[in-house]
Amino acid sequence: MPLPPHIKNGSAARFGWIGAAGLFLGVLLAAAGCSSNRRVGYRTEVDTIPPDRGRPVYEVYSPEILMPSKGIPGKAIRNYEGAPRVAIIIDDIGYDRRIAENLLALDAAFTFSVLPRSPHREVLISKIASRGRELMLHLPMEPIEYPNIDPGPDALMTHMHPDRLLDRLEAHLNDMPEAAGVNNHMGSRMTARFPDMYRIFSVLKERRLFFIDSYTTPDSACLPSARLMRIPFAQRDVFLDHSLDPADVRSQIHRLIRLAEIYGEAVAIGHPHPVTYAVLKKELPRLLQRVEIVPASHLVHNFG
Ligand SMILES: [Zn+2]
Repeated sequence: MPLPPHIKNGSAARFGWIGAAGLFLGVLLAAAGCSSNRRVGYRTEVDTIPPDRGRPVYEVYSPEILMPSKGIPGKAIRNYEGAPRVAIIIDDIGYDRRIAENLLALDAAFTFSVLPRSPHREVLISKIASRGRELMLHLPMEPIEYPNIDPGPDALMTHMHPDRLLDRLEAHLNDMPEAAGVNNHMGSRMTARFPDMYRIFSVLKERRLFFIDSYTTPDSACLPSARLMRIPFAQRDVFLDHSLDPADVRSQIHRLIRLAEIYGEAVAIGHPHPVTYAVLKKELPRLLQRVEIVPASHLVHNFG
């Protein structure tokens, strides 16, 4: 059973009594086994990029989170008039510039989540702004598969002292002040740790940023942390491209539409793969007949 990290007096003062209460709750949840690090299988998708740019691993997640058997945690049915709304977040942006620009050229309000320290982040952030699309910070966090899978430069790691963890988070946020919100890159180990997520959300709250849980583990502590911290929050419903077969990407788009029609809204995450771009481009007219595509910030809610 993992123990909560040691908290210095300075850290407690940083967050006040609310933070202390949250940390205490975190201790209780950790003791109840909510931070279990059970090992699960995963899929890995790697994009083709020039060798001199490195080869980032785009995402890892357990197969069981693709189709939750017990429904979608925290998902509420929301009344709507007109078309149901969907957000389509393309994350892992910053390495493959060409695909990112192709996705930006599509006539749809996709949201773009950019990896810190990625080689093309600056030029792509300015293109995202000039295209009027919403920008998010794609925050790298430790996955269960670490060290076999590397979450990338300056990721938030569970062994880090809370002060160092938050300094690293603040540095990422300072480097991307245009970001409206944050979602996790990988993070199946980190997002299962209530005390760490609570600390991270306390910073997002101060900065009035929303968080979208990429939901890379069924043990995610993001929803209860967001509820306690009262930050605007949503959870990813569908990964568009866990399989790179075009038929599977098409079927995930239809699943997104069905969920949006049932719940009133739904959140998808896709990646800058050629197949994702090709299928989105082809399916866009049909998609827009049935749903309204909105920026991710339109689909976050306070769960408190
Ligand atoms: Zn990612």
